[in-house]
Amino acid sequence: MEIIAGPCAFETVEYTKETVKFLTSQGIKWIRGGALKYRSNNKAYQGTDEVTGWIYDLKRVYNFKWVVEVFNNDQVVSYQKIADMYQIGARNMYNTDLLKATNQIKKPVMYKKMPGATLTEWIQHRRYMRNDVIMCLRGERGYQQDDRRFVPDTYNIQVLRDKFQCEICYDVSHPACNRSYVENVTKCAAIYKPNYIMVEVHPDPDNAQSDREQQLTFEEFKELKKQLRNSRVYR
Ligand code: PEP
Ligand code: MN
Repeated sequence: MEIIAGPCAFETVEYTKETVKFLTSQGIKWIRGGALKYRSNNKAYQGTDEVTGWIYDLKRVYNFKWVVEVFNNDQVVSYQKIADMYQIGARNMYNTDLLKATNQIKKPVMYKKMPGATLTEWIQHRRYMRNDVIMCLRGERGYQQDDRRFVPDTYNIQVLRDKFQCEICYDVSHPACNRSYVENVTKCAAIYKPNYIMVEVHPDPDNAQSDREQQLTFEEFKELKKQLRNSRVYR
């Protein structure tokens, strides 16, 4: 099981550097983090394309691979030199044009499930893509939507594996919704042995521009890794 970690979005050059330095020192090879960030609320932070330049510079110094969300066909092309894996977010699970656009560039795709979509719909749409695709579960809608945005669906790791042969990632941050739940959600997910765990980590989560409650501090991330090692699921 490999860990993909990084902030919800890279926000400043300083934070980006701090995060890359920290995560690579922790042996993390895949670093996630949005550049442009389209949100449900159009007044909320929308990210910045400047991130590609920051990552370009950092890649000369640190050895890591970048997972970045793409929202449109132009980004698939313009990020091709700097991105190592494209992320298709939950909101774009059904965006057939975008799915097909990834076929222009040979690169793995992290494909997230939209909450509420059936596994069959998700698997069917995956077939529009010819690249290697990692199917990423990221929590479902719960009944208490005012209190918690999403709820864990860890057992779907097993259901998906039984239905369809694929690499699987479990995003532990979005179903946890709050950083105090991340450790246990991760332990639950780890039992099902996904190929990857994705977790949001930020140098100063309380002041992050997006997903403030759920991102882990660096210290919390270290503790999470320790816990996983102790549970012998992750080495
Ligand atoms: C994210 O990974 O930060 C994100 C926006 O995820 P999702 O598409 O699952 O909501
Ligand atoms: Mn996020």
